[in-house]
Amino acid sequence: MGDRNASGALQVITTPDYEAMVIGAHPDDDDFGAGATSALWVKQGKKVVWVVMTDGTEGSEVPSFKDTELMLLREQEQRMACEVLGVQAVEFLRFPDGHLVNNEAARKAIVRLIRQYRPRVIFTHDPTQHFFAPDPDEKPNDTAYLNHPDHRATGNIVLDAIFPYVGNPRSYRELLAEGLPPYKVHELYLYATSQVNTYVDVTDSIEIKGKGLLSHASQFGPEAEMVKRVRERAASIAQEAKEKKGLDMQFAEAFRRIKLYVPPQPKEEGTGA
Ligand SMILES: [Zn+2]
Repeated sequence: MGDRNASGALQVITTPDYEAMVIGAHPDDDDFGAGATSALWVKQGKKVVWVVMTDGTEGSEVPSFKDTELMLLREQEQRMACEVLGVQAVEFLRFPDGHLVNNEAARKAIVRLIRQYRPRVIFTHDPTQHFFAPDPDEKPNDTAYLNHPDHRATGNIVLDAIFPYVGNPRSYRELLAEGLPPYKVHELYLYATSQVNTYVDVTDSIEIKGKGLLSHASQFGPEAEMVKRVRERAASIAQEAKEKKGLDMQFAEAFRRIKLYVPPQPKEEGTGA
């Protein structure tokens, strides 16, 4: 629990426990969005937790597939992927796939998890990204990707949870009784965004990202094809990192990085003495 000062105010905790929490709408979004960065950070000895917002029950083209069976199958696939990547914990919130809304229940569930794991960094979908559409004159044979509403809802739920609720001692006071005091998230990394400002060199973990994705057997066709696409995408992001920032990487993941809290720096000693 946080400490109370003389006036009864509750101290907001600023020291993280986990390095990262990755929050995606569906089983496999965490893999695509930040799989290689997660695996890399785990390799570096950091703690990473993944969260899946929905039950994944619309992720099939077979109408007769029972919801519960599909949900459990996809959760099992997601657990296997986490095992491959070394991700230490995974949480399933089981909101209805395809119908996720930014409501009280969803925000509170995320506030609870953030206060529980205290991640320094949170990764999630960029909620401002409604679509990715190529210029039809430049690429006449390409079609647009309309971003899934669950992705946008997830981004909005997470941003709202981070501010104002997670760090506010008066928000969700019933969570205090569960031993979950207010906490400050330090940084946000948005994936699937057209406003990239940060590249992570994942040359050492791109292979494991592909292996993790193969765990989602219910979702993909010819396996090699999907892994090849993931590698090609990471290579083209690395190329972009070179052009835009002069960075030398073979494979990269890209994010819009947003700083929310900078811990006070220790004072330099012995200046002028
Ligand atoms: Zn998704």
